[in-house]
Amino acid sequence: MHETMIAQSLFEAITAEADRHRARPVSARVSCGQLNSVNEDVLVFAFAAVSRGSVCEGLTLEVVQKPLEAHCTDCDRDFRVDLDQPRCSYCGGRHFTLLPDPPLVLEEIEFETE
Ligand SMILES: [Zn+2]
Repeated sequence: MHETMIAQSLFEAITAEADRHRARPVSARVSCGQLNSVNEDVLVFAFAAVSRGSVCEGLTLEVVQKPLEAHCTDCDRDFRVDLDQPRCSYCGGRHFTLLPDPPLVLEEIEFETE
């Protein structure tokens, strides 16, 4: 499954950072676009499964969804898309192109301080 693969690569990235810092990671924050079909609950669960018995066990994983953006071809501006009401927030126009959905990114890792 999708989330299991993401959890595995996050686990590897966080473990590598933990080795580098010689510290235990306590939390990590990842961000992704709204259209990126990552289920946060499933990802947290998958991460807990792959990190069991490792330095990452018990780590709090936070997933932040980035708003979807579009470029209005009527007024030539970028705006945040409200999926319930897809229209330009500046001119109210309905002619726009969606900007690429941001990929899943590991934003920040917090380590245990002594
Ligand atoms: Zn507009």
